[in-house]
Amino acid sequence: MKCPICNNELLEGGIIVDDVACGWVPMEQFKKKGIKRLMYTGMRTIGESSILLNQTKIPNAYFCKNCNKIMGIFDVTNDLDD
Ligand SMILES: [Zn+2]
Repeated sequence: MKCPICNNELLEGGIIVDDVACGWVPMEQFKKKGIKRLMYTGMRTIGESSILLNQTKIPNAYFCKNCNKIMGIFDVTNDLDD
């Protein structure tokens, strides 16, 4: 896959989150500060979590050495009614 910014070849890999769930939240949730960060609504989780290892692995992340950026095409792994 090519970098959409500089068109260099991207290095294929994945993201490891070394604790519980990882996911995307809408901007108003993402901007929360202080104690409000204990609770997010509307999170789209990505990756597969292992409770045993306390770790989440997220496939399909690509690294561009040229831009020093990581980009991904992440499958949403939960289901929200919207
Ligand atoms: Zn690039």
